[in-house]
Amino acid sequence: PYDVLIVGGGPAGAAAAIYAARKGIRTGLLAERFGGQVQDTMAIENFPSVEYTEGPKLAASLEAHVRSYGVEVITSQRAKTLHAAGSDGLASITLESGATLRSKTVILAPGARWRQTGVPGEADYRTKGVTYCPHCDGPLFKGKQVAVIGGGNSGIEAAIDLAGVVEHVTVLEFDSKLRADDVLQRKLHSLPNTAVHLNAQTTEMLGDGSKLTGLRFTDRSSGEARDLAVGGVFVQIGLLPNTEWLQGAVALSPRGEIIIDDRGHTNVAGVFAAGDATTEAYKQIVVAMGAGSTAALSAFDHLIRVSAP
Ligand code: FAD
Repeated sequence: PYDVLIVGGGPAGAAAAIYAARKGIRTGLLAERFGGQVQDTMAIENFPSVEYTEGPKLAASLEAHVRSYGVEVITSQRAKTLHAAGSDGLASITLESGATLRSKTVILAPGARWRQTGVPGEADYRTKGVTYCPHCDGPLFKGKQVAVIGGGNSGIEAAIDLAGVVEHVTVLEFDSKLRADDVLQRKLHSLPNTAVHLNAQTTEMLGDGSKLTGLRFTDRSSGEARDLAVGGVFVQIGLLPNTEWLQGAVALSPRGEIIIDDRGHTNVAGVFAAGDATTEAYKQIVVAMGAGSTAALSAFDHLIRVSAP
């Protein structure tokens, strides 16, 4: 069995693997796809000490760093169930292939995925104007007109953030009212370069073949179709944690995020978690790496206590 088994090969899982392996304990890492969301990222400009890098490049260096410590890496396999440790002190993870992996401790770092609108053009113009991360991509739209789809907290926070960077921000909300907290709505309405369309159902992302030029939406109150010329669209309709397979195994928040404390403990002894799949507030590479390191150090603390004479 492993001392530490990590599920996830994104920034959180990779950092956890490096920290665990450096303690000289047997470390395994299971990932469907090494690098996680980082593989889907073009420019990364907020990883401190690295002014500019690209997702696939960062993912490759993470993987090389993990492998340099002899971590047993298993890729292209999905975890299906987690069973907490029984009387033998070993937790088990079964894979969709049917295999079972056993470990004294488990670190869950399965990440998350952005909810997409699914409208025509969204996939075609992804990274060519369609984006999901204002912290990451906001500065790329300096001086441009942009739209934010979604009037919940994340959409309105994104609009306020973007208003300080871009020329103008239009928020499109499907519902007849914004769902964001009042304080955020007041802040948004105080900004001169913002507008809100309620009852707006986005139906298509428009482009010239190489980049996004705007979007089309239906005004649900009048039934009228309207076009909005924008250089960027930020889709902010939710981040879905990859935790469906953990229901019933560890405590999840109402949004499906793994509930952790400030040391990365879940509600199950010997099971830790880190990164975008957890209740951690900020979903960013450097934050996920810090959380992965925390979870690994907590797993090590747990191991030295349970195996104490
Ligand atoms: P993830 O990166 O999501 O990795 C999850 C890992 O778990 C993957 O290896 C996946 O294959 C694996 N996995 C999931 N489920 C299972 C399972 N059942 N069995 C086995 N393996 C499983 N952040 C920044 O800081 N700066 C940026 O510029 C930036 N740009 C971004 C651009 C885009 C397009 C996106 C989508 C995100 C961006 N982010 C950026 C956010 C950043 O990528 C995430 O915060 C970070 O990747 C989260 O790391 P993680 O390890 O928690 O999860």
